[in-house]
Amino acid sequence: MSSAERYNALKGIQDIYPPEIYIWQEVEKTARDVFSTYGFQELRAPIIEPTDIFVRSIGETTDIVEKEMYTFSDKAGRSITLRPEGTAPLVRCYVQNHLYNLPSPQKFFYSGPMFRYERPQKGRFRQFYQIGVEALGSSDPKLDAEIISMLKLFFERLGLKELNYDVNSIGCEKCRPDYKISLLNFFSDKIDRLCPDCKRRYEYNPLRILDCKVDECITLKAGAPRVIDFLCGGCRAHFDVVLSLLNLLNVPYEINTNMVRGLDYYTRTTFEVTTKQLGAQNAVAAGGRYDRLVEEFGGPPTPAIGFAIGMERVVELLQSSNKQDIPNPKVFIATIGAPAEKESLIIANKLRENGVWVEIGYAGNSLKSQLRKADRLSSDYVLIIGDDEISSGKVKWKHLSDGTQGEIPFSEVYDFLT
Ligand code: ATP
Ligand code: MG
Repeated sequence: MSSAERYNALKGIQDIYPPEIYIWQEVEKTARDVFSTYGFQELRAPIIEPTDIFVRSIGETTDIVEKEMYTFSDKAGRSITLRPEGTAPLVRCYVQNHLYNLPSPQKFFYSGPMFRYERPQKGRFRQFYQIGVEALGSSDPKLDAEIISMLKLFFERLGLKELNYDVNSIGCEKCRPDYKISLLNFFSDKIDRLCPDCKRRYEYNPLRILDCKVDECITLKAGAPRVIDFLCGGCRAHFDVVLSLLNLLNVPYEINTNMVRGLDYYTRTTFEVTTKQLGAQNAVAAGGRYDRLVEEFGGPPTPAIGFAIGMERVVELLQSSNKQDIPNPKVFIATIGAPAEKESLIIANKLRENGVWVEIGYAGNSLKSQLRKADRLSSDYVLIIGDDEISSGKVKWKHLSDGTQGEIPFSEVYDFLT
């Protein structure tokens, strides 16, 4: 191993730094702004949890639990997992802290890194970021429609338009068993041709076969029974209201009966936002109802719904739409000589106290190189201070984009620039 490699980040894990970070901040701010108009408040749960929290909720036979979790023993031998998703920790927090005693529904958002040991590729990382929301304590289909339309508003605010909204209902514990039987019948003469994962899924979790990305399995599932044809009265009525409200709210959805989602806790409504611009990793956000999960964590019966947005994929869409707004300094103070350097520190301080981004030159660079730096930083203004300016009490200014320039007394610099 060369010393350069030795100090690389882990595979599938990337650094995020300027200028790309500005897109991340814009996405995060947009999410906060939009979600707070719907009453969602921030909740910060830990990044590490007891492994069981994920195994029990996400499901033992899901891809995440079977092969993607970063699980290790801590020094006391406890099994710990880096969170692969944000819903289970949030629900654990909700139950542990009795947040169900507050008026329902409680609405939260979170953001931060998630960890999955997946094959790294475009749009797929081992540490990736999600922003998600969860609304707990109501089974009202209005909430489903509101949440999906909130997602639409979020993407519109970011200027992302050509997105598809897929929705489905995967029923509840009453209607899903019948559907499972029918699915098992459908695949019974195709088991040999299923991929090894799906052979196992056939035994333990047949719905997952619909989610498989292997070509042969995609072919085999054509004509499979549709879960929406098996919904019980309650689930059917719920789904119908969700769809009618999505129409009312102008969400251009499509029903995708194969969308079952990769986690076991979902019930009833599931949805996914996809784009045609990212190739294979086309899902930018996904979510659904999980009406039983709070109870499974030992809380009272609490129907709930949420979604998670894949940050890297959203950032990539914004990068390709070329909409980046990189902040720049307002003022660069170029100086010649020690007295001017001192004066520049005083001016810079005062401007910064007034919220102005000020850059100064360092290490006695020539005026020319300081001006070049101001230009590279795209500073709005340059102030130039030398011995002459110190003795005349005036500073030279130049507006870089249009070339206008002039002189003002030191005492007027602040009014001029703020
Ligand atoms: P996918 O089908 O792309 O694997 P998923 O069903 O595993 O997604 P969820 O667990 O529902 O995804 O996560 C929600 C969103 O988080 C996804 O739609 C995607 O945008 C993003 N996401 C999931 N896994 C990764 C990853 N490994 N790297 C980057 N983004 C991811
Ligand atoms: Mg996945």
